[in-house]
Amino acid sequence: MYYNDSTIVYYNGKFLKASEANTDLYGQSLHYGYSVFEGIKSYETNEGTQIFKAQEHYDRLRRSAELLHIPFEYSTQELIDLTYELLERNQFTNAYIRPLVVCSPNMSLSKGKESHLILLAWEWSNGYLGDKMKVMTSTFQRPNPQAFLIEAKVGGHYVNSILACQEAKDNGYDEAILLDEKGYVAESSGANIFYEKGGELFTPAKGSILPGITRSVVIDICKELEIPVHEKFFTPEEMRGADAAFFCGTAAEIVALDSMDNVRFAKEWDESLCSLIQNAYKNRVVGKSINEFKNKVEENA
Ligand code: PMP
Repeated sequence: MYYNDSTIVYYNGKFLKASEANTDLYGQSLHYGYSVFEGIKSYETNEGTQIFKAQEHYDRLRRSAELLHIPFEYSTQELIDLTYELLERNQFTNAYIRPLVVCSPNMSLSKGKESHLILLAWEWSNGYLGDKMKVMTSTFQRPNPQAFLIEAKVGGHYVNSILACQEAKDNGYDEAILLDEKGYVAESSGANIFYEKGGELFTPAKGSILPGITRSVVIDICKELEIPVHEKFFTPEEMRGADAAFFCGTAAEIVALDSMDNVRFAKEWDESLCSLIQNAYKNRVVGKSINEFKNKVEENA
């Protein structure tokens, strides 16, 4: 599903076939989840294939490695150039790109000695979360920021995401909303959260979330469309039954929520500000203007 016999990856300083690449069984990342990674997308645009927010993603990858004391020498520009080459070698336009930095063999619980960059890509045109989602408040909290470097995108953090997402599925929901250790809404298993109430947008403040690149694009779009947007801590009670809500992330893009803990969001999606933002985001990723949405804000507020 992710690769076939002709898929090319970048690993250990060279391009090679995915089917011929192998990894060390004694690596620190495999044993302890001590790896950092990114999820990036490229889109077909009028200017050819463009990696959306490439600089922001690779700056975050380098920052994640630095926070975890993983030695990692690539510059952001080198990483971008390698990624365009990877897309070209695979002849991909709309793709999901997964850079992963793994550490060399080391069974001790000390910082990484040496790292290896892995770049994978596969074709992907749509948001992975599909239609409007029914979500539940998870019984799992997000990792405590005193226990993890929560702003880094670390392999091991995603054990928490798997537990929460699977719990939601096992209970008949599509996804989970995780709270922080104080009981405020934090984020989903792999996406940030916004809700709309009274013509304004709200998103959890930084602290117990991965500050998503899509989240900051959404904030920019709100500002450009003159939709008031607030970063603040709020409880699930404040969000439940609001006018509308969505999850956002590079892979998911912007995906509408139908209900939270079986309480429907009040507005018809197409009449919400959230849906305007969803459409504006679709334009933004392919480099198109979002001006057409400006005069619709009043109608949907
Ligand atoms: N939170 C978590 C836990 C995530 O895994 C992601 C996806 N990377 C996000 C938020 C959204 O981040 P971004 O918009 O940078 O993809």
